[in-house]
Amino acid sequence: MFQQTTTLHKSPIYFRRWSRKGYAVFVSRHNEVVISECATSITQGLTPKTKKSLKSMYSVSQLEEKVLSGGLINEQEALWLALEADKETLYAAANRLRLHFCGNRMDLCTIMNAKSGKCSEDCKWCSQSAYYKTNVKVYELIDHQEAVKQAQINKNAGAHKFSLVTSGRDISHTNLDKLCKIYEDIAKTNDIHLCASMGLVDKPKLEKLKAVGVKMYHCNIETAPSLFPKLCSTHTIEEKLETLRTARELGMTLCCGGIIGVGETMEQRVEMAMTLQPLNIESIPLNLLSAIPGTDLQNAEPITDDEILTTFAMFRFVNPRSGIRFASGRIKIQHMQERALKAGMNAALIGDLLTTIGTKMHEDVVNFRKAGFEC
Ligand code: SF4
Repeated sequence: MFQQTTTLHKSPIYFRRWSRKGYAVFVSRHNEVVISECATSITQGLTPKTKKSLKSMYSVSQLEEKVLSGGLINEQEALWLALEADKETLYAAANRLRLHFCGNRMDLCTIMNAKSGKCSEDCKWCSQSAYYKTNVKVYELIDHQEAVKQAQINKNAGAHKFSLVTSGRDISHTNLDKLCKIYEDIAKTNDIHLCASMGLVDKPKLEKLKAVGVKMYHCNIETAPSLFPKLCSTHTIEEKLETLRTARELGMTLCCGGIIGVGETMEQRVEMAMTLQPLNIESIPLNLLSAIPGTDLQNAEPITDDEILTTFAMFRFVNPRSGIRFASGRIKIQHMQERALKAGMNAALIGDLLTTIGTKMHEDVVNFRKAGFEC
């Protein structure tokens, strides 16, 4: 909701109808008048008139100063940053915020697909969903020794974090017990930070993961709450948030982000960033959609370089202390990788563990160092 406050001195207050469509609200508060425009959601509430008035409402430096002094960006400000701010000024400011809140260290994580394919859920972008015919590898569970070895390879290649990821709405008790044994064996010889991504697990399962040394739980909200039901009908964002809240209650850190380019508007990217803000997420992975043949999003329109950079920078402004993680899809923007990193990123998902083990991780580390990051 757009809100503007005017302080009056002694003079009487006269109310006039502001708009024929009636989207103005006046509230008298002592000697102040609050003028607001009603909006049920940020994605539908802005009129062309409001958009015009947004143009000159803020400046990047003013909002940067607000964040540096501990303030939080609100929806309206985030919208202005995403839609109206000068692009280059915005990217440079996001990079300064990253340096201020996160320093120059690039946090590197790796994942291993511990259970692949045959997923009961219908997420429109996903090659692992049983709803779509794709070329994804299908296997029930990764070999124990292979996973332990992979964690060590990743650590040696420079990764700080290692996560086992499973397809499916949830993980069975039998498979969870097997994966917990893998975590135990990794922890015996390797001090890599352990993470897990196993769907909508309940508290007892999270407790088991925590007991074997898993510190961070991953569950993406994927996109804006207003768009999610159009992309997935088999589970809800609320179920995801419940899993995240439970993991938080148990003292785990959280990794939660989403995919850019699934048909969302820039306003919905703002909505997603704002949804994450109160959760104080430690790691926000931002993926660029890979339109996989066979999935419902196989013909998704690619998004522009500017949209990508603006989204990254806006996420840094809205979630200044979070790790904003450059996740999958980096290969699509190799031509501007350094610019993208310097639009507010301080973390990355490295490697391509389903295909070329090890080699790409090394290249990633070299590239990040060339861009001036420590890793
Ligand atoms: S729940 Fe996960 S693995 Fe299953 S279809 Fe959705 S994104 Fe893919």
